[in-house]
Amino acid sequence: MRMGLHPPSLIPHPSSFIPHTPPMKIPRYPGYIFDLDGTIYLGDQLLPTAADVLAQLRAEGRRVAFLSNNPTRTREQYVAKLRGLGLQAELGEVVNSSYVMVQWLRTHAPGAPLFVCGEAPLIGELTAAGFPMSERPGEIAFVVASFDRTFTYHKLQVAFDAIRAGAQLVATNPDRFCPVPGGGEPDAAAIIAAIEACTNTRCLVNVGKPAPIMAQTVGAMLQLPPEECLMVGDRLMTDIAMGAAAGMATLLVLTGDSTRAEVADAPYQPTYVAERLAALVE
Ligand SMILES: [Mg+2]
Repeated sequence: MRMGLHPPSLIPHPSSFIPHTPPMKIPRYPGYIFDLDGTIYLGDQLLPTAADVLAQLRAEGRRVAFLSNNPTRTREQYVAKLRGLGLQAELGEVVNSSYVMVQWLRTHAPGAPLFVCGEAPLIGELTAAGFPMSERPGEIAFVVASFDRTFTYHKLQVAFDAIRAGAQLVATNPDRFCPVPGGGEPDAAAIIAAIEACTNTRCLVNVGKPAPIMAQTVGAMLQLPPEECLMVGDRLMTDIAMGAAAGMATLLVLTGDSTRAEVADAPYQPTYVAERLAALVE
């Protein structure tokens, strides 16, 4: 492993609460679940040490999965993106919120007419799964709110009319923003809030992390029980909350959204906190 000039500091919990705890080396786990945005990459830039860490874990025979709340690409497109960044990735290692949204709708309302406030890849996945798209308020069964950089007042109007006519609101993910180089992009929370505000309704379900369905889906993919998995992510309210609630160990990396200062007040404490992914193999 390449050693950096500034080794990351690791804390199992805010160290002031456990003053006798020595600096902690992260033990190896049979399975690793990696968030993507802010954890593996920012925009189209691989984060430092990500490639080395993944290669090392794979060389040791550890199972790896990628678990993203971002619904703006299909799983196939995520495989292509990860490979384009020089990483090994297989379709059977990738779970994202659009994939889980399809599974949820297939279970609860197969073939139901939908109106989607989302981008083309999500609409394509839902259409391919047998869900017709509609803009007729009286026939729409579900309005799907998502990360939508093509959101318009027209879409808000259709969602408003559909929900007032009896449609249910569901959502792909609860993220407020998606970290990108130099800042962020408003994410699904903004779209959900707009629809909830004008209709005075609440989402029936939000399938993205921290929802248990995400942990169950990726756990089944890895074929490992939660206690044998380490969830690695940059966001306390999604990655760490999901992993902790599912009984997984968690690593918060400080390369995306959440900061070390926010850890103390988080309802779910990460098992480990590190400046970067290299802490996994040091
Ligand atoms: Mg993230």
